[in-house]
Amino acid sequence: MALLQITEPGQSVDPHQRKIAAGIDLGTTNSLIAIVRGGVPETLPIHQGTHLLPSVVRYKEELTIVGQSALDRAEEDPLNTVLSVKRMMGRGIGDIARIGKSLPYDFVSNESGMVKINTVAGDKSPIEISSEILKELVERANQSLPGDLDGVVITVPAYFDDSQRQATRDAARVAGLNVLRLLNEPTAAAVAYGLDSAYEGLVAVYDLGGGTFDISVLRLTRGVFEVVATGGDSALGGDDFDKCIAEWIITQADYSQELTPRQLRGVMLQARSSKEFLSTSDIADLDFTIDGLSFKGQLTRETMDELVAKLVVESINACRRVLRDAGEGKIGNVVLVGGSTRMHAVRQAVTEFFGVKPLVDIDPDRVIAVGAAVQADILIGNKPKDEMLLLDVLPLSLGLETMGGLAEKIIHRNTAIPASKSQEYTTYKDGQTAMLVHVVQGERELVADCRSLASFELRGIPAMVAGAARIEVNFQVDADGLLSVSAREITTGVNASVLVKPSYGLSDEEMSNML
Ligand code: AMP
Repeated sequence: MALLQITEPGQSVDPHQRKIAAGIDLGTTNSLIAIVRGGVPETLPIHQGTHLLPSVVRYKEELTIVGQSALDRAEEDPLNTVLSVKRMMGRGIGDIARIGKSLPYDFVSNESGMVKINTVAGDKSPIEISSEILKELVERANQSLPGDLDGVVITVPAYFDDSQRQATRDAARVAGLNVLRLLNEPTAAAVAYGLDSAYEGLVAVYDLGGGTFDISVLRLTRGVFEVVATGGDSALGGDDFDKCIAEWIITQADYSQELTPRQLRGVMLQARSSKEFLSTSDIADLDFTIDGLSFKGQLTRETMDELVAKLVVESINACRRVLRDAGEGKIGNVVLVGGSTRMHAVRQAVTEFFGVKPLVDIDPDRVIAVGAAVQADILIGNKPKDEMLLLDVLPLSLGLETMGGLAEKIIHRNTAIPASKSQEYTTYKDGQTAMLVHVVQGERELVADCRSLASFELRGIPAMVAGAARIEVNFQVDADGLLSVSAREITTGVNASVLVKPSYGLSDEEMSNML
């Protein structure tokens, strides 16, 4: 039975004035959208009852296809079908060689160095591609929405830097969405379980999806989430489990001929469905024929667990490293996220390692979107005013380049946001009238090892002897972790207005073209 909600007189929100705000999990493989209806968060169906929209965009000359139909035909048209665009968000052309050696695309870059993909429909930036996913998601969810969307909360990985967050925000703008807040994914998962109001201490969020593994440790103090440490493996996930099982099938069958790519894909699919079946059963019967290639046999959960044990251990080793980074303290709660955490072997290993039973009641595919929806509902004003607003902390320090290529931190990592801080600088040459302000993000001492976010010039400093000018640089980080920087000369009151742009952001022209 649902509990009746009682509010203080004058504090309840008139149902007719309720605004509609959604939480969006913009994922590497799949994306989801959720809202709070009647006090209960729920993900919205996208297509024939499914709630997951594959984060895949296929460009044709006159048409853009998003989701399952783009994924189904991906192999036909690999150059124009973009998968895993999230890995490219906020990245420069120079980063691509590192993150996407095997990506089949024809990469180009805009004048700011932002990466783009050359397709039959023209050059497409990761921001534009992500905006297509967001548009499709909202459009499809529209049928089950009670009205137009007033705002959204979009989740991002905890380790996303300023450029990657800006890019996500820009994608939402291009899609015509009002972004209330960007929220860290592990924070959203913890919010979905209500930990923000019911718990203080350390939370581990273990997120094992199809292709990536993320482990985050959060510290929760009076409703403020601090990301203490993050880690994982960007190339570990359910697909690797499928591979182990497929290899086992091929060995068992002892086929005399080499498998064709189609047969291999078919065996992988069989491996995947038996893996998923074994989350709720002890034995899976395999009986299939693919292009003349047959197999009949049984796979027990015990055998499967042995096959994938090495991969599970790899994920636990990553947890161990993150706990070491996090320092002292016992983990009080563990939240499981991602489809692969349905596996018994994974749940067992996680329980043994952390020494607590993980929270599993919310569907691990939907938990991030659910947490984002809960947060969106609060931010749009559908809750009484005294409902706690969630705060986050800055994931990486922000600073300036100083003499000798050193990075000086202005706002340190783990500072609660929103935050603002100023620092004074001076000129180092007689008669110096301009100063270059180079904004960087990261924990390392050398600028070369940090991420360059933006640079701008403060001009019109009155000519004085070296060391006489007093230049105040102000950093402001808003609640999304997005940064604006300004600088002014104090003694003379000379102000120079400056516009900070992320290094791999969109130019105004590009943005207005897209809009
Ligand atoms: P995600 O990226 O979070 O959507 O996770 C996708 C991965 O979860 C794929 O590798 C799926 O095979 C896996 N998965 C989904 N359901 C199950 C299940 N019941 N048991 C094991 N793995 C699953």
